[in-house]
Amino acid sequence: MKPDIIPASPERIADLHLSLSEIQARVQQSSHSNATLVAVSKYKPAGDILACYEAGQRDFGENYVQELVDKAEQLPPDIRWHFIGTLQSNKAKILASIPNLHTIQTLTSAKAATSLNKALPIDRSAPLNILLQVNTSGEDSKSGLAPLTPTSQASESELVSLAKLIISSCPRLHFQGLMTIGSLTESLASDEKENQDFTTLKESRDTLKGILEKEKEAGKLDGRWGDEGGHLVLSMGMSSDFEAALKAGSDIVRVGTGIFGERQKKGEI
Ligand SMILES: *Cc1c(COP(=O)(O)O)cnc(C)c1O
Repeated sequence: MKPDIIPASPERIADLHLSLSEIQARVQQSSHSNATLVAVSKYKPAGDILACYEAGQRDFGENYVQELVDKAEQLPPDIRWHFIGTLQSNKAKILASIPNLHTIQTLTSAKAATSLNKALPIDRSAPLNILLQVNTSGEDSKSGLAPLTPTSQASESELVSLAKLIISSCPRLHFQGLMTIGSLTESLASDEKENQDFTTLKESRDTLKGILEKEKEAGKLDGRWGDEGGHLVLSMGMSSDFEAALKAGSDIVRVGTGIFGERQKKGEI
C-alpha cells in the first residue's frame, strides 16, 4: 500500500506557490517563453511537490532512482517525471517500470539505452524521451559524453553513435536532444559574457543535427528524433543561470533551489 502524502503546512504552500509563480513568470517573460520548466524536487517531500502540482506544475525532476520510484507511486499519475541523476545501467529496469517517467535527461551509454529499451513495457502509452548528457566543461566531476565541434571527427564520436543507436534500434525510446550541467564558474560569470558551456552544447547539437540529417537523406538512417518539428532540444540552465540559458536557446530549464529553497547536503540527511 502506498503511504499517504503528508501535506505541506499552509505557510509552506503559500511560499511554494509564490516562488513557483515567480520562476514561471521569468520563463514566460524570456525570449523562449514556451520553454519547459522542470521543477527539481530532489530531497524535497512529496507534500512540496503536491503543492506545486496543485498550482499547475506538471514537470518534475529527480536525481535518485529509489526516491523517484517512491514519489511516483504516491503522487498523481499525470506528473511528467524527468530523471536527471547519474544513470547506471543496472537501474534501467526499475526506471522503466515507472509508467509516467517522461524523460531521461542523463543517458550516456549504449548499455543503458539497450537495457531501457528492453525493459520498457510494450503497452507503454508513449516512448520514453531521451536526452544525452554532454560534459561541456570537461570536469572530471561531471558525467557526460564528449561534446562535438564542427572540426572534430564528429561522425566517429560516441555521442553520434549513441544517438544513431537510439534512433534506429530502440523503438521504445525517443531521442529528443542534449543536456548539460556545465561548470559553476561559467554559470557565475554568465551575466557578463556568454556561458561557454551553453555555446558548446549548442554547437554539439548543430553538428549532430547536420550529421543525422545527412545520413537520413542518404538512406543510412531510418527513424525520427527531436520535438514534433524534428528540432533537437537542449536542456541547460538551473536556478542561478536559467535566464541566461533561455537567452542562449535552451528549451528545458531545471530549477530546484529557486522553487523549493536550499537543499540539505547529502551527508546531512
Ligand atoms: C539539482 C539539480 C538541478 C537543480 O539545481 P538548482 O541549482 O537547485 O536549481 C538541476 N539539474 C541537475 C542535473 C541537478 O542535479
